[in-house]
Amino acid sequence: MALLLRGCMAKILSHRNPMFFSFSPLTVHHNYHSLTLCASLSTSETPSSSHESHVRWKPICLYHSQGKCTKMDDPIHLDTFNHDFSKELQVDTTEFNKMRPQGVDFFLVLDLEGRVEILEFPVLLISTKTLQVEDIFHRFVRPSKMSEQRINEYIEGKYGKFGVHRVWHDTAIPFTEVIQQFGLWLMRHQLWMGGELNRAAFVTCGNWDLKTKVPQQCEVSKIKLPPYFMEWVNLKDVYLNFYNRRATGMVKMMKELQIPLMGSHHLGIDDSRNIARVLQHMLLDGALIQITARRNPRSLRDVKFLFKNRIG
Ligand SMILES: [Zn+2]
Repeated sequence: MALLLRGCMAKILSHRNPMFFSFSPLTVHHNYHSLTLCASLSTSETPSSSHESHVRWKPICLYHSQGKCTKMDDPIHLDTFNHDFSKELQVDTTEFNKMRPQGVDFFLVLDLEGRVEILEFPVLLISTKTLQVEDIFHRFVRPSKMSEQRINEYIEGKYGKFGVHRVWHDTAIPFTEVIQQFGLWLMRHQLWMGGELNRAAFVTCGNWDLKTKVPQQCEVSKIKLPPYFMEWVNLKDVYLNFYNRRATGMVKMMKELQIPLMGSHHLGIDDSRNIARVLQHMLLDGALIQITARRNPRSLRDVKFLFKNRIG
């Protein structure tokens, strides 16, 4: 477990005994720690105080994050995996004194995974007023132009090290379906009615996700670029202009702001949550989170960067 955690979080947990789990042959669950769907706790775990168990970090249930958990009535499963993602991202309302009004009601923190084709599409919906995570949209994505064997190797290499390759295989759907479902999700939150995005702005760490990868994947999947991907916030550019410090990536920003890394770096859903924590920190520090990049509506490949000082 310590491998998954850094800094304070590791400190909080370091005195705890490791947990051991027995395996069931029927299990198909993700296993951050080689644990399984029907994992049962061994007696070797030290009973913890109620306070400790309250703060105990748990890996996310990657079925639940995709709306597909069938174990909500299993107390061991609920004790093992986090099913309330907003809890870890709660902020102290007494620190709201420096907060500035933002131009939108919500931020959509997005962090894609997959270099060849998109493999994971996680988005966190965060209120700009309460800083709460209001909802989450998370899907694993099945490549459309790859052989089964190549997919297996790719997923083993990418997600095997986190122990979540089984859940990927269980749940991944094609990008076209992900985009359909995501559109409906945006509509349900009244953020999109078919044109450009309303009342919300995408926040990413860098320009790669929305400038490069989404249009590329749309081409591969033979669909039009959805019109809600017209503009976004590259948090690194806002960070540079607000703190006057150049951070090349998420880990650097977290280190500088002394935010401990949570979960597995390069698992998209965990990276999104970490980016969300950087965003929350910046909002509490009084940052105005403005759009940094915008597409030309007449030539979608043409992206204009709006900040003079930018990190790229
Ligand atoms: Zn679950």
